[in-house]
Amino acid sequence: MSDLIVKDALIVPMTERKRSFAGHVRISDGVITAIDPAAPVTTVADESVIDAAGCVLMPGLVNAHTHLYQVLLRAVWEDLDLMPWLKRIYGCASVLKAEHFYAGSLLGCIEAIRSGVTTLCEHNFLNPAPDCAFETLRAIKDSGVRAVFARTIMDTGEIVPQCTREKPEQAFRRIEEILAQHRPGERLYFMTGPNTPPINTTLGLLREIRRFADDNALGISAHVAESKSVVDCVRREHGKNGVVEFLHEFGIPGPHSIFAHSVHVSQDEIALLKQTGTSVSHNPVSNMMLGDGVAPVVEMLRQGVNVALGTDGAASNHSQDLFDTMKAASLLQKVHHQEAGVIDPYAVLRMATAGGAKALGLDSLCGTIEIGKQADLILLDLDTIHNQPMNDVFSQIVHCAKASDVRTVMVKGEIVMRDRYLMGLDEKKILADVKAANRDLMRRVNELSF
Ligand SMILES: [Zn+2]
Repeated sequence: MSDLIVKDALIVPMTERKRSFAGHVRISDGVITAIDPAAPVTTVADESVIDAAGCVLMPGLVNAHTHLYQVLLRAVWEDLDLMPWLKRIYGCASVLKAEHFYAGSLLGCIEAIRSGVTTLCEHNFLNPAPDCAFETLRAIKDSGVRAVFARTIMDTGEIVPQCTREKPEQAFRRIEEILAQHRPGERLYFMTGPNTPPINTTLGLLREIRRFADDNALGISAHVAESKSVVDCVRREHGKNGVVEFLHEFGIPGPHSIFAHSVHVSQDEIALLKQTGTSVSHNPVSNMMLGDGVAPVVEMLRQGVNVALGTDGAASNHSQDLFDTMKAASLLQKVHHQEAGVIDPYAVLRMATAGGAKALGLDSLCGTIEIGKQADLILLDLDTIHNQPMNDVFSQIVHCAKASDVRTVMVKGEIVMRDRYLMGLDEKKILADVKAANRDLMRRVNELSF
């Protein structure tokens, strides 16, 4: 890998509140080796130079919660609340094939990269056959994005089809098979988790999964308290006040756990999240689309809970665009609290970068621009009509910038998109393949009755 210098950028390192400065960044073997404010640059032999005049250089965005294959289900089941919607999402498993997962996941990754995402967390929960997970992983690897593959488990549930229910031991063996095929240096990391406790997990699974995660040094990813209906279930069937409180009995919250959504959590449960070091992935667009409610993000941040941002799958978001999500996160809290200053753009941008990296256990590698960290960086062209004039770079990244402003993306110093051209990927073919996969899947889905 050749050395690289990015010069004349407006650098937004996300290491200190509201700090930005003009300068250059030097990268060697994928690692940031120098960050120099405004110094004139002399290049050394074999060093490539990227002229970033007019651009912001910032950490790549971290999408802390998604289901990549769901791009195939954009705008398919709309206007449904969580439970009837989930019934269809789960039911779809009986007709999903490994090739659907590959085509959809690759398109999802490309959409993510094109919108400045350098790390994503694929919360994998539908596994009608073992090769579905392997094909998702193949797509992730082919795209070049850094990813956490959170292979979760469902072992019960009225609306969960038989083909995706697994006995814990059987699921653990399958996860071990995935781990065994992992090669170091692939920029892939792994988690496990109960998918949506308690609606599709038994008490037995919850008892076993903490042990399994610890034995294999895996973090835990779970959908938690997404809608009131899930909290009603935990109250009715388990006599607990909330899902976080319920999961605490099984040791599921913890410093390597990420709870997606956490919309309906009490003050006591927010304190429990803080006490246990649990991170939250806030997914505002998905929450709005499904009518779930508004997550108490401001309160979580005030109490010191680490909050990340996620798109969730395209079946409940319609896109994988984290710029959309940042703007939604900001505006949703303002309108919910009826207080314009209740959340500031820096806090939102932090959730989408350093907060996400921390939530996924990758903060020693990425999430900020610092010497010694891996070069997961994006160039954002802000010298454009909708971004000028520039008065507050943090607010304008959150509220003005669009995914299409992302010019160049690198992961561990490797350029995966340059001047909006994806390196080593045939977009036309990928698009044709995904359309074919979609036609096939929709034909199968239309034969199902829900
Ligand atoms: Zn989700």
